[in-house]
Amino acid sequence: RLGLGEWAWDRGEFVPARAPRLSLSTQGLHYGTAVFEGIRAYRSGGRLRLFRAHEHYARMLRACRLLRITDIPRSVPELIDITVELLRRNAYDSDVYVRPLAHKLSLLPGTPPGVSLAGVSDALSITTFGYPTAGDVQEVSCLLSTWRRPSRDAFPAQAKIAGGYVTSALACDEARAAGYDDAILLDRAGNVAEATTANVFAVRDGILATPPDTGDLLAGITRDTVITLCREAGMTVLERPLSPTDLHIADEVFLTSTGKEVAAVVTLSGRDVGSGSVGPVTARVAALYRTVTRPPDTRGRAADADRPAWLTAVTPA
Ligand code: PMP
Repeated sequence: RLGLGEWAWDRGEFVPARAPRLSLSTQGLHYGTAVFEGIRAYRSGGRLRLFRAHEHYARMLRACRLLRITDIPRSVPELIDITVELLRRNAYDSDVYVRPLAHKLSLLPGTPPGVSLAGVSDALSITTFGYPTAGDVQEVSCLLSTWRRPSRDAFPAQAKIAGGYVTSALACDEARAAGYDDAILLDRAGNVAEATTANVFAVRDGILATPPDTGDLLAGITRDTVITLCREAGMTVLERPLSPTDLHIADEVFLTSTGKEVAAVVTLSGRDVGSGSVGPVTARVAALYRTVTRPPDTRGRAADADRPAWLTAVTPA
């Protein structure tokens, strides 16, 4: 069953996911004052496991602090427990995409709308979506966007704040209207920042490079996983500024995100990237990623033994 699960979690209880529960005066809806996450649960060897749930919820709680969102379950383990219970209720037989959303709710009764963060109540919901299992490495075409990633002094880019996704939505729309799958945005200085919802890597002569985590982009958890795995495998990964030219002359370019995993960029603004198909380094990185997200069926032995901290069992072992 793909799409929205039957149950959701909203403000302390499990509720039917399709029943409307939000007031029209929800502040997060008016001003984008909300924080969200995208977490993946992978099914392999007959089991469902959340991948790096701890890091995703820790990132969400950091962003909640920024928006003064305080009325939600406060600890990462509590949030993971709720998510596990929700996934069990929804009884998935596929991969799952988990979407926690913490938002500013409402001002005190009788108060007109305003952008104050203090004095506004808040709420957390979690919805889940059955997600197709990716087969081969996805090939995507990208447009270098005319929209720029807002700089860190204009917007806290390292937090997944709902309002910031207007830039991603406009860039995605521009790319789709021009026949591309996605967009890559530059920062104010003209360096590569990231794609609309993914980080960017370039490969040249076997060396990987990705823009540094300077606060001007969301340095994703998949980016971190890929850097860790590649370095462990003896590959060189540089965190350095990339120009659009660096992408055009790269042998390979790929994107990383929870949703896309490792996806090859095969076209960039009308030009082939490298050979114009999935390159050998991208294929190797995707394979490394698969080994940690879908550990092989070890027939009863602890399949998660290599990375116990990265996987949370949903279905009992
Ligand atoms: N950048 C942006 C703007 C994103 O929305 C995402 C998706 N969360 C990413 C990068 C990749 O982050 P992650 O690997 O943690 O999913």
